[in-house]
Amino acid sequence: MYYKEYGNTGIKVSAVGLGTMRYDDEDIKAGRLEKCAEIPLYAYEKGINYWDTAPFYCDDKSEEVTGIALSQVDRSKVYVTSKVNFGTLRTQNPDRDVFRKRLELSLERLQTDYIDFYHMWCMLNLESWEKHMETLYGFFEEAQGEGLIRNIVFSSHMQGNDIETVVESGKFKGMLIGYNALNYRFRQSGIRRAYEKGMGVVVMNPLGGGLIPQSSEAFSYLTEGTDLSVAQAALRFVASHREITVTLAGCTTKEHVDDAVKAVENLQEEPAQVIMEKQEQRGTSFNNLCTGCNYCKGCPKGIEISKFMDAYNHKILTGKAEGIQQRINAHWCIDMNKAAECIACGKCEGLCTQHLPIVERLKETADLFVRK
Ligand code: SF4
Ligand code: SF4
Repeated sequence: MYYKEYGNTGIKVSAVGLGTMRYDDEDIKAGRLEKCAEIPLYAYEKGINYWDTAPFYCDDKSEEVTGIALSQVDRSKVYVTSKVNFGTLRTQNPDRDVFRKRLELSLERLQTDYIDFYHMWCMLNLESWEKHMETLYGFFEEAQGEGLIRNIVFSSHMQGNDIETVVESGKFKGMLIGYNALNYRFRQSGIRRAYEKGMGVVVMNPLGGGLIPQSSEAFSYLTEGTDLSVAQAALRFVASHREITVTLAGCTTKEHVDDAVKAVENLQEEPAQVIMEKQEQRGTSFNNLCTGCNYCKGCPKGIEISKFMDAYNHKILTGKAEGIQQRINAHWCIDMNKAAECIACGKCEGLCTQHLPIVERLKETADLFVRK
C-alpha cells in the first residue's frame, strides 16, 4: 500500500481509503452486519487504514458495520471518520446536549472512545458554513479538548474560491471534497490552497457517480500505458495528485477493495497543475460535460437541470441521442416534457461552473423527445 502524510498532522494514511456507503444492500436489509464487516476487515488486511463513515449511510447502518470491524483490529492502526451537521442533528440551533448525544451515538456504534477525523458535514455554500461555524464549531472544540475527536475537518460541495475561504480560516486540519476526471478543473484552486496550508485533502466521488466506468471508451485514455481498468485508472488519476491525501473507494465486495489497492500500486505523485496541463494537451478536459455539481439549481420553471444535463452527457459520451432518453426515463425517472418548459431566462447558465449551453441542450432534448 502507498501511504501519504495527512497534512501537517504527522499521520500516515493509505492513498486509497474505504468509503463505507456501499455495503451490500441486501445484507444490510437482512441485518447481516457481520458479513458486511468483512469488507473493512479485508481492507485492513490490505493496508487501507482510512475508513470514512457517517450517520445515515446504508440505511443508517454504516457506522455500526464499521464499528464491528473496528472492534476486531488494532484500533491505533486505523483512522476512522464520522460527520455531523444541522441536518443530522435535526435542528438549526443545536445546544450542547443535542450535539453530545449525536457524537456519543456515533462513538457507541463505532465501538470506540474517539473519532480520528470528525467532519462538519456537507457545507453547501459559505452562508451555511458561517452558520455552522457560529453554532457548532465551539462544540467540536470542546469535544476535541476531551479527546472524543482528534481532528476537526469539513466536507463540502463548494466551488474553488469558496473552499479557499474556508481553508484560509485556519480552523480545519483537512477537508473532504468531490473530485474526479470530470470535474477536476473547477476544484483545482481549492485543493492547492489546502495543500499549501498543510491540510489533508480527502476525495469522494472519484468515479464521477459511476459515469466514468460506464463510459469506458471515452475515458480509456486514463488507462494508457497501464494494465488498469477504467475504474482503477480513474482512482489512480485522483490519487496521483500530490495535493490529494486520500482517495475514497466505495467498496461492496472484496474485489472492489482489490481494485482500489491495485489502483495505487507504485503510485507516482505529481502536482495538480502538471496533471491538468497534461489533460489539456491531450484534449481530454471534458469541458463540455456536466459535472453534477448542481450549482445551477433554482430554475424558476422547476426544471431539474443537472439531471437533464447528466442525461445529455450520455449523448456526448456514447454519441447516441437515445442516451438522453434512456437516462431520463430509466435512471432519473423524471418527466421529459419539463425540457420544453425552459423560458431561456439564462439564470442557470450564469451559475453553471462548466459554462454549458443549458438552454440549447434543453431545446435539443425537447425537439427530439417531447411530442408537440
Ligand atoms: S434558462 Fe431555462 S432551465 Fe435555465 S433557469 Fe431559466 S428556465 Fe430554467
Ligand atoms: S449544468 Fe453546470 S452547474 Fe448544473 S450541474 Fe451541470 S455542471 Fe453543474
